[in-house]
Amino acid sequence: MHLPYFSLRDYFFKKYGKRVQKITVSLPFTCPNRDGSKSKGGCSFCYDGSKPLRIDSGKDLKIQIKEGIEKAKRKYGEDILFIIYYQSYTNTYGSLDYLKEVYNTALQFERVVGIDIGTRPDCMPEEVISLLVDYCKKGLEVWVELGLQSANFETLKKINRAHGVSDFIEAVLRIAPTPLKICTHIIVGLPGEDKRDFLETAKLVASLPVEGIKIHPLHIVKHTPLARVYQKNPFPLLDFEEYVKICADIIEILPPKVVIQRITGEIEEDLLIAPYYCSPKYKNKVIKAVEEELKFRGTRQGSKASRSYLLNKAINS
Ligand code: SF4
Repeated sequence: MHLPYFSLRDYFFKKYGKRVQKITVSLPFTCPNRDGSKSKGGCSFCYDGSKPLRIDSGKDLKIQIKEGIEKAKRKYGEDILFIIYYQSYTNTYGSLDYLKEVYNTALQFERVVGIDIGTRPDCMPEEVISLLVDYCKKGLEVWVELGLQSANFETLKKINRAHGVSDFIEAVLRIAPTPLKICTHIIVGLPGEDKRDFLETAKLVASLPVEGIKIHPLHIVKHTPLARVYQKNPFPLLDFEEYVKICADIIEILPPKVVIQRITGEIEEDLLIAPYYCSPKYKNKVIKAVEEELKFRGTRQGSKASRSYLLNKAINS
């Protein structure tokens, strides 16, 4: 509870009084910029739909959840709660019947208090929002993870996101009046961007009714379009110290109530090209270094909350 930012762990303890463990599952979804409906080839940084490597998306969902719960209990004991996290690809990109079937599966397990749906801003039609709101009415906590990555439209085009900044804002504003909670993903260090771009992205997120954020350093993963570009023409990536400082700058900008769910990103070493600190063995070092940086500065989350956030707060108070 002494972190200089509002972590997911602290959020869950505050709300439930105990540990809540996310159980990550993977299903054979796709996404609109892989199947050709918007584009092909996917986002340039994306490896296999950002699927957790240790999970087989062909495995029966019930078995995935059961195994995840058993593993968490072995590690943290029996007295914990669970949120089922549908992570890979776009988990709202399917028929309503299929979505209902896969979300309902989570409810068959005891001590599941919520679901967490990884998706894109342009894949949240009203019928999916209504379906998810129904789970909230049943008492579940429902998070929707919307990838933004950057608030720079030129960057979004370059990385083949196949959606705009306005799609993100529009999705947030449509979801915000509902009980669904929004978590945004951003990437720090995308090609062609500098500190001003990273902070601009953070300020946009800070000014919107978003409840959570995941901050990732750009990392180059083998077998991705970005890896091919990087191997042909290497471009500068943020080094450890640069990332730590910028991550701390972003945390200072974010409103104190935003749950910071992640401040680094990692991929198995045999798939990682660069930077080295995105290997799992450096994960805790990055987290610790960001905490130390904020302590050294004597600042914390919200110390430099953006003017638009403060304005928003004043208008709504
Ligand atoms: S990051 Fe998401 S939207 Fe982009 S290609 Fe991967 S699964 Fe599709």
